[in-house]
Amino acid sequence: MEYHTLNISQLNDFVFCPYSIYLHTVYQTLDDDNYYDLPQIKGKYAHQTVDDGTYSTKKSVITGMMVYSEYYGLVGRIDQYFFDDKKLVERKRSIKTIYDGYKLQLYAQYFCMIEMGFVIDKLGFYSMVDNKSYPLAIPDDKTIHWFETHLNHIRQYQPLDTHVHINENKCQHCIYCPLCDKTTLLI
Ligand code: SF4
Repeated sequence: MEYHTLNISQLNDFVFCPYSIYLHTVYQTLDDDNYYDLPQIKGKYAHQTVDDGTYSTKKSVITGMMVYSEYYGLVGRIDQYFFDDKKLVERKRSIKTIYDGYKLQLYAQYFCMIEMGFVIDKLGFYSMVDNKSYPLAIPDDKTIHWFETHLNHIRQYQPLDTHVHINENKCQHCIYCPLCDKTTLLI
């Protein structure tokens, strides 16, 4: 299979709004401060210790490791892998709902790590502000098919030829809103 490599974060972004993938590509050279809004900044700082690999000094926990899947053409970063439990965890600042985008992100990390030779028995999310954990099932055949279909949709997406479905509730939480030429929200 020939395809371009996707960043794992794009899987979640595409579920949120496919057009945001296009805007991310257009504006990726800008400084974050040009488009990050407060919720994203809070989430970013919540993640920063993980991204820096500084959250845990325990040898039984890997934090913030880059992962890659040649098979799926994916690259990204995990949050935490616990050797003892063989558990992969994605932390978010505050989780109210387990969105499909969250699941796709964690499954992408999972497939990367499996391909890299890690053993994973458990998957889960952790909501930092309320200290809640949410398990996610190891993907079965049906879930793998759903995951692969989603990757195909992203790779086939033509931002300039596709109607953008505008959801103002999403737009008002979108980091690209001030720069987006599709939104009907007045900033
Ligand atoms: S502002 Fe709205 S239409 Fe534009 S990328 Fe964000 S969610 Fe999509």
